Amino acid sequence: MLESRSVPIGPILDLWTSRLPEHRRSDCACIGGGWCSSTESFARRVGISHTTVYRRLRRGYVDIYEADRWAAALGEHPVRVWPEWDRVAVEVESYRPSKCDDLPATLVG
Ligand SMILES: [Zn+2]
Repeated sequence: MLESRSVPIGPILDLWTSRLPEHRRSDCACIGGGWCSSTESFARRVGISHTTVYRRLRRGYVDIYEADRWAAALGEHPVRVWPEWDRVAVEVESYRPSKCDDLPATLVG
């Protein structure tokens, strides 16, 4: 049973890995502060520790507040990452998108 205030972690990691080059054992971009598709790179990009991202991976889900921050850090609106986003987020009355500037008009107000 899906936790109603969470979304699966898979889609955002898929998005991350699809956009970035694979991690290389030596001479990887991430060693010099750049980005690769590794989970460690992802954690650094969204501003969480390795241990946190691995804990989320074990659970398989991310609560929508954290998911929203992750999507924003990747420059995406969460609805583009999780198609079910509107249905999940609408159940949380206090939820407000952290970034409203690029929302379609139908989602504002
Ligand atoms: Zn790397």
